[in-house]
Formats: sequence, structure tokens, C-alpha cells
Amino acid sequence: MPGLVFIVSGPSGVGKSTLRKEVMSRCDNLKYSVSYTTRPPRKGEQEGVDYTFISHDTFTKMRDEGKFAEWARVHGNYYGTPIEPIVRWTEEGFDVILEIDVQGAMQVKNSFPEEVFVFIAPPSLADLEKRLRWRKTDHEDDILLRMTHAHLELDAVRDYNYLVVNERLEEAVKKFHAIILAERCRIR
Ligand code: ADP
Ligand code: 5GP
Repeated sequence: MPGLVFIVSGPSGVGKSTLRKEVMSRCDNLKYSVSYTTRPPRKGEQEGVDYTFISHDTFTKMRDEGKFAEWARVHGNYYGTPIEPIVRWTEEGFDVILEIDVQGAMQVKNSFPEEVFVFIAPPSLADLEKRLRWRKTDHEDDILLRMTHAHLELDAVRDYNYLVVNERLEEAVKKFHAIILAERCRIR
């Protein structure tokens, strides 16, 4: 059976990558789709692990060659999901996690409405702002931009199949893990 694709969205700083890494350490047969971005690497981010960091020209070329399953401009930078690994992994029977913004998720939904759309929300916008500051990876301007977008992104939750509120990390990890297990049992 071909694998499933889990599309995970939620405002920047909500804990998507923390949750995903924890779930991947507990759940087998899962692969993470590493996106391409024109954003410069943050301290501690690894090339090819967190993102593949590319120039704007390379991004435009790849986009024009149809190499992305979806792409979007987010907070002033470009991000795209490469098609090739998703096709290969799902054909091999792996399930794949995409961590992408709402615009990208809606592009995927238009083409593949039967995939699994999971929205991660913060307990409150005040908590979200605290997390963005604790992470200590973004400049003040970037934090304000991410907070403005967060208000808009939270409205998109109705287009998703599942909502996980990341209040206590352990609870949220269990819920995300449960979603994956339930979807693997679902009769399609
Ligand atoms: P995202 O990938 O959504 O941008 P991160 O995974 O980088 O978010 O998390 C942002 C910050 O919030 C990190 O410092 C992370 O350790 C912290 N964090 C994640 N989940 C929780 C939680 N449930 N409670 C408190 N802090 C959290
Ligand atoms: P960050 O710069 O904080 O890592 O990510 C900013 C936003 O871009 C997040 O909402 C993240 O999910 C989103 N993002 C990351 N990769 C992709 C991608 O390949 N496509 C789209 N559309 N959004 C992405």
C-alpha cells in the first residue's frame, strides 16, 4: 500500500518541529520532507536536515522546472516542497510529514484532498509570542511579522482534518502520534 502524507501547519513558533521530531523518535515508517528555502539558516540549523538552503535564482529555476509539489512566499522568503522524495517514499510504503504554511497546504489540498491535514495551534497568542522569544532565533522585526501572520493563519484551521493544541508538549505529542496511528487504520 502506498504511504500517507501528513500535512502539518500552524503559526511559526507553535512547536511544529519540536512535535514532529518527538513523534518521529517514537513512530516508525515515517519520513520528513525537507523543504527548500531562500531564508538564511538560523543558528544550529543543518543543511539538508532542517532545510535545503538555496539562492533566490535557484529557487526560481526549480519552481519553473516544476520540481515543487507546492511553494509559497512566507514572511518575505520563499519555501518549496520537492516532489521527488514524496513520490519515492510513498511508493516505498513510508508515510511522509510535510511541515508547510497554510498557503502551501491549500495547494496540496487542491491536488490531493484525501491526504491528512493537521493544524497545530498555541494555547493562546501570548504563549506563541513567548515561545518565539524563548527560541532566540528571530530578530524583533521577524517576531512581530510572525505574530501578525499568526492571527491570519489561525483562521485557516477549519480547512484541516485535525487540530492539536500544543499546550503541554507531552500531551500534544501523544495526540499527534494517535492521529498517525488512527489514519494508518482507516479504511480508504
Ligand atoms: P515551529 O517549528 O512551529 O516554528 P518550534 O518547534 O521551533 O516551532 O518551537 C518554538 C519554541 O517553542 C521552541 O523553543 C520550543 O522548544 C518551544 N516549545 C515547543 N512546544 C512547547 C510547549 N508545548 N510548551 C512550551 N514551549 C514549547
Ligand atoms: P521558518 O522560517 O520559521 O522555518 O518557517 C516559516 C513558515 O514557513 C512556517 O509556517 C513553515 O511551516 C513554512 N514552511 C516551511 N517549509 C515550507 C514549504 O516547503 N512550503 C511552504 N508553503 N511553507 C513552508
